[in-house]
Amino acid sequence: MAKLPTSVDKIVEQYGPHKAYTPKGGFEGHAEPDKMVKTHCCFCGMQCGIQLKAKDNKIVGFEPWMEFPFNEGRMCPKGVARYLQNNHPDRLMSPIERVEGVGFRPIDWETAMSRTVSEMKRIQSTYGNDAFAVLSGVSLTNEQSYLMGKFARVALKTANLDYNGRLCMVSAGGGNKKAFGLDRISNSWADLKHAKVIMICGSNVSETFPTLIHYIWEARDNGAKIIVVDPRVTPVARTADLHLPIKPGTDSALYGAMLNHLVENNWLDHDFIDNHTSGFDETIASVKNHSLEWAEEITGIPAESIRKAAEMWGKTDTSFMLHARGIEQHSKGVENVLGCINLVLATGRLGKPYCMAPLQDRGTDREAVSTDISATSCRATAISRILSTVSILRTFGV
Ligand code: SF4
Repeated sequence: MAKLPTSVDKIVEQYGPHKAYTPKGGFEGHAEPDKMVKTHCCFCGMQCGIQLKAKDNKIVGFEPWMEFPFNEGRMCPKGVARYLQNNHPDRLMSPIERVEGVGFRPIDWETAMSRTVSEMKRIQSTYGNDAFAVLSGVSLTNEQSYLMGKFARVALKTANLDYNGRLCMVSAGGGNKKAFGLDRISNSWADLKHAKVIMICGSNVSETFPTLIHYIWEARDNGAKIIVVDPRVTPVARTADLHLPIKPGTDSALYGAMLNHLVENNWLDHDFIDNHTSGFDETIASVKNHSLEWAEEITGIPAESIRKAAEMWGKTDTSFMLHARGIEQHSKGVENVLGCINLVLATGRLGKPYCMAPLQDRGTDREAVSTDISATSCRATAISRILSTVSILRTFGV
């Protein structure tokens, strides 16, 4: 079992008590900072603003950055604990190698680099270039992602390059690409506060995306109606105006029936459909047998609730569609996403204020960029990651 590299008292002395517990003397560490550094949390693509307390160029704590426009001082638990990492005594800052019968021992960078490269070359000369796979992540900067793609394709010449987005949000990307030709969100979150209807599909947003949920509460304070599609009674479902407790794996039936009901009641934006969509007639033909009762049978959601959801969505003039992994990580994830997008397009909720189509509820920007240019991962220091990659590329003669 892993052991702490030092005593708990020493860690508290360095950083103060853990933020998850309210300590007797408050949250302050013992080291008074000599400067505050405004920066971003680097743990996901949201890039929340944070102020780090530094003393002697070491991080000793943090303060919320209330003026930062996006997260307004709010952080998720990862961000709250993030300040502990930089100078944590358990952090690996230099290479170690495993020696049979001895365990790990420190080695210098030069030795580590040449051993890594020679082992890679040995394995590839025996088993082929594709013996290696590169698995990436979205916590990197664009430049690092780009370099990692180059490393995999040009240095290793492997066909096996992937990153966490393959599982995470690739269905969302695929659905958006099919519908819009690219995988990007259409409006800013600032619009969310003023939307009249918010439909949240497959997203436990209050627990998994605490930096977003505040925007939804503000929208509700402004009078927004909230529809939640989720098999579970999540915290946001508990407080929704309408909760649709769907049987897992039946999402497309719900969206098809809702679209059919919009068509039957002519809750459509014909100008938008005529000028900005294609194949709309084929789409509505494909759902014309998707009655509310048919959908009830499949989804387990009462027909009256589906009707109510379609009415709430159809009769408003501004709305946000938020879908996430709950509808995406399925064998029919792309179809589910397209089902959501069709509701947006049929009602013309795109390209205008207070509408979003669709927010994919994820660490947006860099995740999308990583999808486009490929990425890498591992949470060592960013600078060592990029230097290591450059060094390895050089060693491979690239
Ligand atoms: S959402 Fe959490 S992990 Fe992501 S940037 Fe903000 S604080 Fe960091």
